[in-house]
Amino acid sequence: MLSGGVDRLAMEAKLQSERQLLDCAQRHLLGNYRPAKMILSRGRGCELFDTEGRRYLDFCAGVAVCCLGHGHPALVKVIQEQAAELMHVSNYFYSLQNVKFVEELCAATGFDRAFCCNSGAEANEALLKLVRQHFYQQGKKDRWRIIAFERSFHGRTMGALALTGNPTYQEGFGPALQGVQHVPFGDLDAVAALMGPEVAAIHVEPVQGEGGVLPPPEGFHQSLRSLCDEHGALLVFDEVQVGMGRTGKLLGADHFGVKADAIALAKGLGGGFPMGVMLLREHLAGALPPGKHGSTFGGSPLSSAVGRTVLRVLHEEKLIERAAEQGERLSAGLAKVAAAHPKLCTGERGLGLLRAITLTDQILARDVLGPARDNGLLVTAAGPRAVRFTPPLVVSEAEIAEAVERIDATLTKLESEAG
Ligand code: PLP
Repeated sequence: MLSGGVDRLAMEAKLQSERQLLDCAQRHLLGNYRPAKMILSRGRGCELFDTEGRRYLDFCAGVAVCCLGHGHPALVKVIQEQAAELMHVSNYFYSLQNVKFVEELCAATGFDRAFCCNSGAEANEALLKLVRQHFYQQGKKDRWRIIAFERSFHGRTMGALALTGNPTYQEGFGPALQGVQHVPFGDLDAVAALMGPEVAAIHVEPVQGEGGVLPPPEGFHQSLRSLCDEHGALLVFDEVQVGMGRTGKLLGADHFGVKADAIALAKGLGGGFPMGVMLLREHLAGALPPGKHGSTFGGSPLSSAVGRTVLRVLHEEKLIERAAEQGERLSAGLAKVAAAHPKLCTGERGLGLLRAITLTDQILARDVLGPARDNGLLVTAAGPRAVRFTPPLVVSEAEIAEAVERIDATLTKLESEAG
């Protein structure tokens, strides 16, 4: 029955030409994205195929989402089986899969409690509400200011947008949520200058993802932790992009030996299935009592079963260790490519399998994406001058070598065109 369904979809795609499908997309989609002009229809591991049969090496992975690659048998199986067993019940009831999922996720991460939702923005919204309500409940009603960072990205909903340190994303959506102050990422003095009894939390990505794949300066997060402890504020990490093994550790913060009071996870958590989670420590457990927050779809039996499977496969296939090893390999390859194209590239940076080639002022990252795609490689831009590589954590050595070759060929062509 399932394969019949897949055949039917393939047939439908074949009956319409790529041109017709692109026209249809232009007519009916909102137009808030700038998608590449091809129609993807199938994926296996680190490969994607479009309706014309072209193959792409996927170093986007749904923007750091598809950690197990496309069509991982364990993920396919659990979705089929759990959909047949029990898909959704609402948060009026516990479900077996959800109870087991939060137990396993807390055990893996060292946090105590979880709020399940559906996306990174939703997990960040939950963090915002948690932080403010925590102090409100303690009678500290003036403690609602949040320190966030320039070039950060926390999502597109109004609260997450207010945290996001990118004015172009905020323009025209005002008035913004009050009380968020942005300082340069890594500028400890600027943070210290703002700390005080009205600051409820510091909200920060362990490594900035969308902002350009930027690791923090040495000791930065440790110092943020100390400042929070000193002033009675909370430290919250947005682990949406860096969490779930992407950087070669389960959490991005594990690189810095810092424990936040609460974190947001999403992206890799469901390996492609939409999921988000806010995790918190026990001292915050009462901050959002019944009636203060919720999400209809959050923590469904289906998403929970998927989350459990992702955790299990990460562990069984040693994918986090692999991300660290393969990240080194990718880093070395990209560094060589960057060095070979000094006119266009300034270098390479990142952690694990979240990496970027950084560009000179001769070229914008978004102008590399199309030519790379024409060369069969899917990558993304992170900020104006970083070309980001986030392959599935199952990526092989051969696939890394192929990606390095393809980006090298792409840059060679762009360099020759630039004259
Ligand atoms: N936080 C970070 C660090 C992200 O990278 C993203 C998405 O790129 C988000 C939050 C928003 O996640 P979502 O698009 O699932 O709402």
